[in-house]
Parts: sequence; structure tokens; C-alpha cells
Amino acid sequence: MTTSENQVSLEELCVTKGMRMTDQRRVIARVIETSTDHPDVEELYRRAVAEDPRISISTVYRTVKLFEDAGIIARLDFRDGRARYETVPDEHHDHLIDLKSGKVIEFRNEEIEALQETIARKLGYRLVDHRLELYGVPLKPGETE
Ligand SMILES: [Zn+2]
Repeated sequence: MTTSENQVSLEELCVTKGMRMTDQRRVIARVIETSTDHPDVEELYRRAVAEDPRISISTVYRTVKLFEDAGIIARLDFRDGRARYETVPDEHHDHLIDLKSGKVIEFRNEEIEALQETIARKLGYRLVDHRLELYGVPLKPGETE
């Protein structure tokens, strides 16, 4: 997801949560924040180490876990055995995963949002969260949309 101007930075959020921010944690926070492609830990490590060669993969693992436990980043599971991460978005969105390229498309659909509320209510619940992942392959030329 993209970061808008008025949004609190991940680093500021960490400080708000009482986290001690080391240089390495700062680099990792920045890398997560500037990534729009839902990277996994190995990819985060590649990007972080390019900025600070002293960062180890175990530091990335630990930091990501710390951020996740604090609720400032979200872990996503797109069924490929790799946990991926994104900053917790201001506005909820769902994901479509292109099984051919691995590309992840973010979307939001008000009808789906409303329908999920209705289903939960009918089952006697107030909906507090949900996750929806669509898995697809690109339409072939001539296949109707
Ligand atoms: Zn996303």
C-alpha cells in the first residue's frame, strides 16, 4: 500500500507503542513502509541489507515479528508458504493473487463489505475483521470479462 503525506510513519507508530528504535529497526520499518508489493522476510532482508549491510536475516525476522505483535504491520498468507507483510492500511482492502505471475492486486468492493456484515449478523455476530483473497489466472485473449 502507498503512504500518504498525512499518515503517521511506521517509526512514529513504533515509538507510540513504546518500542525502542534502533538504527536497524528504523531501516526495516522504512523498507516495509516503502514496499508496495507485499514482500516476504527474505525480500525485506534483501532491501534492508542494501541500506545497512550489518543487518542480518534473523534481525529482520525478529523485527517483523515485533512489529506484527504490536499490530503495526499485517502478515498475509497467499498460500505459497511464505508469510508476506504490509503496513496496516488506513482503509481496509482485500487482495487478488495472480497465480501465474505472483502479482498481488489490492481492491475494495463495497458490495462484498456489506454482504459480509449481513452474513455475520445473520449468524448472530458483529463483524470486526475479515480477510478475503481471490486467486486467479489472467483471462486469455477472447475470454470474456
Ligand atoms: Zn495489501
